[in-house]
Amino acid sequence: MKIGILGGGQLARMMAQAGLPLGGEFIFLDPKADACAGQLGRLVTADWEDESALAKLSECDRVTCDFENVPATVLERLADSGHPVRPAANAFAAAQDRLTEKRLFESLGIEVAPFAAVSGRTDLLEALDRIGYPAVLKTRRMGYDGKGQYLLRAQEDLESAWSALGDHELILEGWVDFDFECAITVVRNALGEMRCYPLSRTVHADGMLRLAAAPANVDVGLGERAQACGRMLAEHLDYVGCLTLELFVAGERILGNEFAPRVHNSAHWTIEGAVCSQFENHIRAVCDLPLGSTALRAPALMFNWIGEMPSKTGLLPVPDLHWHDYGKQPRPGRKVGHATLLAETWPALLPVALDLREDLPQPLDRLLDDLVSM
Ligand code: AMP
Repeated sequence: MKIGILGGGQLARMMAQAGLPLGGEFIFLDPKADACAGQLGRLVTADWEDESALAKLSECDRVTCDFENVPATVLERLADSGHPVRPAANAFAAAQDRLTEKRLFESLGIEVAPFAAVSGRTDLLEALDRIGYPAVLKTRRMGYDGKGQYLLRAQEDLESAWSALGDHELILEGWVDFDFECAITVVRNALGEMRCYPLSRTVHADGMLRLAAAPANVDVGLGERAQACGRMLAEHLDYVGCLTLELFVAGERILGNEFAPRVHNSAHWTIEGAVCSQFENHIRAVCDLPLGSTALRAPALMFNWIGEMPSKTGLLPVPDLHWHDYGKQPRPGRKVGHATLLAETWPALLPVALDLREDLPQPLDRLLDDLVSM
């Protein structure tokens, strides 16, 4: 089966790594000529809207995405010309606008932080009167990995926030004083069958995911509520593929932050830590193959390598540590790889992880201490 992927980054690369053994053949469309998935299939270098590039995807049996900001209109056009696009454009349209996304969560009964649409200074001042400080001002569109966000701690921050973001359509959100963050990944097929992976506990710094631990150590009721939120969203969107809902946990409350209509960094641990990875299950769902088991194989801790790959010397000798180099050029703030550490139990995993501190790039050493101390 020929599978076209809009976007040729590490997510597309890992989808291909999972899909090739199933007999898949991959074509990637990406504006960048060095897109790292290109090593695993044919790379078409062009803009998202390029007609002749999109025509090349028409050879494919299925089309999916590794990038959530592919214009929803492009996905609609592909679908209208008879190409099964999975997940469909409606999920992208909802995820691409933070305001639409928050309203969708509310309509489904998923609690969210207080929020307001901001189209001008007056809106911002009115929203701050209602929501109060601290609050976070975000661009409604094209924000990811903490980009396009400004934390407003007090009135003094207003001018600099406005000069950074004021020429965009914005949303103001109340700052959630969460205990921790987690993410639930659901896979759903075209028949409506759904499976959830165990909840991942996620740790961010500067808006970027740094660590993910699974299964998150939460009480059963909270885990079930998180799963119910993910399932409800997938059901509502008539979604096909893997979807991840990112959540804040504050006491007994679970608040929806955002969702990704694609495979997600918080579930990279599923490659080794689950029976069937999120990448394989996404491809299975997209291609109408039977879904694989989302059950845990072993507790897992994933480290994100950001900027550059760390030295292998101290890390590779660790038994049950699994290395993923995405083959990308190093650049500050760029996700270039990850590693997943497994063990039979959490109590067995923690001392191994803590022993690695000296070999971990900053701020992972500090974040690991925080994770362990909770
Ligand atoms: P986002 O791009 O919205 O997922 O934000 C990236 C990260 O910034 C989140 O995972 C949180 O760690 C933090 N963050 C974003 N919005 C809020 C909020 N309203 N309250 C607290 N933390 C937030």
